[in-house]
Amino acid sequence: MNSLERGDVQLSKTIGCAADLAINGAPPAFAEPLHVGRPNIGSREKFLKLAGEMFDRRWLSNNGPLLMQFEQRVADYTGVKHCIAMCNGTIALEIAIRALGMTGEVIVPSYTFIATAQALAWQGITPVFADIDPVTHNLDPEAVRRMITPRTSGIIGVHLWGRAAPVEALQAVADEHGLQLLFDAAHAFGCSHRGKMIGSFGRAEVLSFHATKFFNTFEGGAVLTDDDDLAETMRLMRNFGFSGLDNVIHPGTNGKMVEICAAMGLANFDYIDTVIDANRRNYIAYQHALTGLPGMRLIPFDDGEKNNYQYVILEIDNDCPVSRDQLVAALHAENVLARKYFWPGCHRMKPFRELYPNAGLMLPHTETVSDRVIVLPTGTTLAEADLRTIAAVIRCLAVVA
Ligand SMILES: *Cc1c(COP(=O)(O)O)cnc(C)c1O
Repeated sequence: MNSLERGDVQLSKTIGCAADLAINGAPPAFAEPLHVGRPNIGSREKFLKLAGEMFDRRWLSNNGPLLMQFEQRVADYTGVKHCIAMCNGTIALEIAIRALGMTGEVIVPSYTFIATAQALAWQGITPVFADIDPVTHNLDPEAVRRMITPRTSGIIGVHLWGRAAPVEALQAVADEHGLQLLFDAAHAFGCSHRGKMIGSFGRAEVLSFHATKFFNTFEGGAVLTDDDDLAETMRLMRNFGFSGLDNVIHPGTNGKMVEICAAMGLANFDYIDTVIDANRRNYIAYQHALTGLPGMRLIPFDDGEKNNYQYVILEIDNDCPVSRDQLVAALHAENVLARKYFWPGCHRMKPFRELYPNAGLMLPHTETVSDRVIVLPTGTTLAEADLRTIAAVIRCLAVVA
């Protein structure tokens, strides 16, 4: 059952049976740790050229020419009227939440990166967790409906793994109850829904350009919206409320993206298709290498949509011979730092667990899904031979166990 082809690629070891695994005493498959979400880095030449021009101009922040170019590129790429770039995705979420006038309670999934909930809690808004659809991993609109109270002011949907949240159904719930609808699109840059690029759904959508995301500006984020007034408000909020040199006309904070980050974004723009191609190739290779294993499967992407394939999500069922945690432990022993995103769910993290000790009663699918997901390494730096080694470890455990 050895599924490795050595070719001319030097592998540290060949994995054919349980005795070859590091958990059973063999040396690890990789000398260096293999991370999920290693940064994708575009043209260094372009970045260094833009950085040089920036130094010559001595314009490092405050709505510089690189920032304006970058915002225009994001707006063109997503087909959204306004892109307001920010220092990171979490501040972008906080500013969007405030600009939409959210207060009291806001309904969010618990199965998301903690920033979605923290961005609310940080400004004194109570995140109320609604359950997900166990198939799509996205918010279940009926579960959202059940969590609405007189204090609810909005909903934040998350396009988890880059697969669109149920946009139309959530919009219907929001309209019916007079709620603001915002999307956390941190995973979904470059993805589409019903043929339309993600970015213009709800009243606004928030992107993250963190180093580990599909597309990065070192750190960074943006709010996208087609609403002129909302865009203007968020531009003011991002820059202390300044309108002109000495005139503050709005409450505000400092959410500005600096020029060097915009330069990174511009350098990475030309690289987007390369990253998507590499991610897609990796995804398909994993699919081939892992077919037919009992009780585990990769979550699918709709080929009719644009996807960035940034998250390779393996789901481990109860009838799989090996448990999710055993698999993760075995991969870590090989130096493959596969992740359990977003285990255990926001509601089971300390700040929210203390707030709502019984939230799990309303979140059965969140708990089940977060107990069975493994995120595998992908990206432009993952060599094909390394991918096959990772798959061989999983195969070995699933078959032998
Ligand atoms: C990464 C991420 C964020 C936060 O973005 P930062 O740029 O890291 O602040 C928010 N929501 C989700 C779903 C994310 O994955």
